[in-house]
Amino acid sequence: MYDCHIHSDFSIDSKYLMEEMVLEAINKNMKSICFTDHIDFDVTENRIDIDFRPKDYFKKIKQVKYKYMDKIEILTGVEIGMQPQLYTRYDKFINNNPFDFVIMSLHTIDRKDIHGDNFTYNKKPIEALNIYYDTLYHIVKNYENYDVLGHLDYIDRYFESFSQIPEFKKYAALVEDILKLVIRKDKGIEINTAGVKYGLGYYHPKIEILKLYKELGGEIITVGSDAHCPEFIGYEYREVEKLLRELGFKYIYIFKGRKKFPIHIG
Ligand SMILES: [Zn+2]
Ligand SMILES: [Zn+2]
Repeated sequence: MYDCHIHSDFSIDSKYLMEEMVLEAINKNMKSICFTDHIDFDVTENRIDIDFRPKDYFKKIKQVKYKYMDKIEILTGVEIGMQPQLYTRYDKFINNNPFDFVIMSLHTIDRKDIHGDNFTYNKKPIEALNIYYDTLYHIVKNYENYDVLGHLDYIDRYFESFSQIPEFKKYAALVEDILKLVIRKDKGIEINTAGVKYGLGYYHPKIEILKLYKELGGEIITVGSDAHCPEFIGYEYREVEKLLRELGFKYIYIFKGRKKFPIHIG
């Protein structure tokens, strides 16, 4: 099993040490995991940075990597919270650090946190989706120093009620434009299993988007639980493999040194 999206206490929203996460991953017989702790520059109206000190991060991860190297592969990654004003800044940050893997996510729009600032509230649901996918299109069009797009339909989690989420066909064209760009630029998407944990009943992205990705010729997919605690490492990994096989995918991918490696899933 592979988990390319986990957090540790280098993320503001996790309190678990890397070693605790690693021990549970070994316990679950995982073959490879990648820590993708959060960097969210320039969030909130006070324009604060939510980040970690890369020096400390790499020092710690090196320690656990070598301590457990005969039991599990531990990869270094980051989940960047992108906004259109941050391209140069993230570019510099990523180029200065030897990450294996970079997930680009959209957590914040106009310095409003989609989750914490209730971005979807007081907007018509389709209007909120239009803004979200327009922003995502903009960042995918203009930024390339990443490997996969994180939890593509993340916004679904944050409607006041899930019953407000518009039907996919009402915004499928927007998603299609994003996927075409991702594919053309040789980037990938992730399947993030946390959607199920949040009660949505599906992974990010939802099955319609995965089918569309396949139809358009998309192949690069990583699998991640987005675990912020040991319990959820590898969450639903086998189910994802099964789903991907049913949809006609033959491989998932992991990234090392920013290069993709296919893993055959039968
Ligand atoms: Zn995220
Ligand atoms: Zn995450």
